[in-house]
Amino acid sequence: MSPVADAPDVWSADVPPDLSAFPTVQHRIEKGRFVCPGDETASCHQYPACDHETWPCGCDYVPHADCWIKPWIDGSDLVDSYAGDEPYLRDEDLPDGDATWTFEGDYVLFDYVLASREASDA
Ligand SMILES: [Zn+2]
Ligand SMILES: [Zn+2]
Repeated sequence: MSPVADAPDVWSADVPPDLSAFPTVQHRIEKGRFVCPGDETASCHQYPACDHETWPCGCDYVPHADCWIKPWIDGSDLVDSYAGDEPYLRDEDLPDGDATWTFEGDYVLFDYVLASREASDA
């Protein structure tokens, strides 16, 4: 037991915790929905249990049953969250496939993972 370097009980308000110990998962688009295959052990299921609008907020990151990204993308039409520039698509036109996502400050965009993506089995 080391006397130092215990994890803090409360995270600093502007430094997110290191979630690299939690596996990232491959999100997908399936049947016009954003799908997260992860569970409480996935990194996108770790977030504060509070009602603060942004993180990190100083509250502890705790495991959740739900992915934090999914409601951002499912919260409106799927095409509204599509990073591609095909504005006339309808949700049902979006093909199934592996998806990436980016947090844009106050919304989340998804895009398809290209078939030629670099190998990453993270
Ligand atoms: Zn909070
Ligand atoms: Zn997820």
